[in-house]
Amino acid sequence: MSETGQCLCGAIKYRIDNSPQMAGVCHCKNCQRQAGSAFSTLAGVPTTEFHLIQGELKLYTDTETESGNAVQRFFCGNCGSPIYSAVPGFEGMVFLKTGTMDDTSGFEPQFHAWGDTKQNWVAITDGAPVAARNPG
Ligand SMILES: [Zn+2]
Ligand SMILES: [Zn+2]
Repeated sequence: MSETGQCLCGAIKYRIDNSPQMAGVCHCKNCQRQAGSAFSTLAGVPTTEFHLIQGELKLYTDTETESGNAVQRFFCGNCGSPIYSAVPGFEGMVFLKTGTMDDTSGFEPQFHAWGDTKQNWVAITDGAPVAARNPG
């Protein structure tokens, strides 16, 4: 089923051809900083199934990563909403920030990444496996 989403101000609108198959939560410090929150909720979507239907994304190249490989973080330059990341080693995928989807009712994390830097108050009770850092 195709799904739609947008940034906070509505300048960016996108459509994905199919509901995401792979969803997870990232507790890394960089995601916390970018989201201004406790974690990022992400869904892997094939690049060919992601369609920007309105607006132009800005790119922040995040080089402060453990591996040293730059993560490309795309966001709305007007309101700052993060839209997706592109991660080295996962070419052909975008990692959508699922809070921007119009319907988030289907989101169910299959894994948690970066449990090592999880904020103390966050209790993981969904039964999904927690990787200390990036899931292998
Ligand atoms: Zn916006
Ligand atoms: Zn992260």
